[in-house]
Amino acid sequence: MLSIEDATVRFGERAVLDAVDLEVAEHEIVCVLGPSGSGKSTLLRAVAGLQALDSGRVLLAGADQAGVPVHRRGVGLMFQDHQLFPQRDVGGNVAFGPRMRGAGKAARAERVRELLDLVGLPGAERRSVAALSGGEQQRVALARALAPRPRLLMLDEPLGQLDRGLRERLVVELRQLFGRLGTTVLAVTHDQGEAFALADRVVVMRDGRIAQSGTPVDVWSRPASEFVARFLGFDN
Ligand code: ATP
Ligand code: MG
Repeated sequence: MLSIEDATVRFGERAVLDAVDLEVAEHEIVCVLGPSGSGKSTLLRAVAGLQALDSGRVLLAGADQAGVPVHRRGVGLMFQDHQLFPQRDVGGNVAFGPRMRGAGKAARAERVRELLDLVGLPGAERRSVAALSGGEQQRVALARALAPRPRLLMLDEPLGQLDRGLRERLVVELRQLFGRLGTTVLAVTHDQGEAFALADRVVVMRDGRIAQSGTPVDVWSRPASEFVARFLGFDN
């Protein structure tokens, strides 16, 4: 569904993405782990079209995305600072997706209702986003990202600002939700527990390269290098 081929992004002399190859299959949930500055967000931005490649290609369903603008890529994005529109109510936020613009009022309302049910906030349309808890806001941001029915959902530290208990609960819910919807997901997280609970496959990045890619059990039980082992917190 997603192919990243030999993708390189340079800032000055430095390759922040260094000839990265990555495939994400339809319905697969891939979590990207790695130290700060290893290129995780840049990878997502490149797939979304928010960051140009210096070389290499991004293909979605076999189609080269070079020159395709963000809103035409059919990807949903959710960043750590989810930036809900404070002056709009919950429904207004969820209905905002550019793809929703073409839909009539009744169709939008129906879709918003469906999505709020899905993320566990039924009937929240008229609530003010400022009055929601952090976890509720995160759910609204997720509903907003799902609204245009993206073929690929990309999450950059989606639960970053939540406390551990809430994260653990939401991760389980998300996994079920994505399974039910058949969503293909590429997610960045700092939190190993989150990655291992959510992912079908884990990708560990180091200095713009992929240090290891495998199932959570694989990576956990057979770290490919000293670096991965240390990153995962194994002291020898
Ligand atoms: P974190 O875990 O802290 O979010 P990350 O793995 O997401 O880190 P990126 O945001 O992808 O890291 O950044 C990778 C490197 O590229 C960093 O060293 C960053 O400073 C650099 N970088 C990112 N964007 C730019 C830019 N627009 N100009 C210059 N350098 C940049
Ligand atoms: Mg980042």
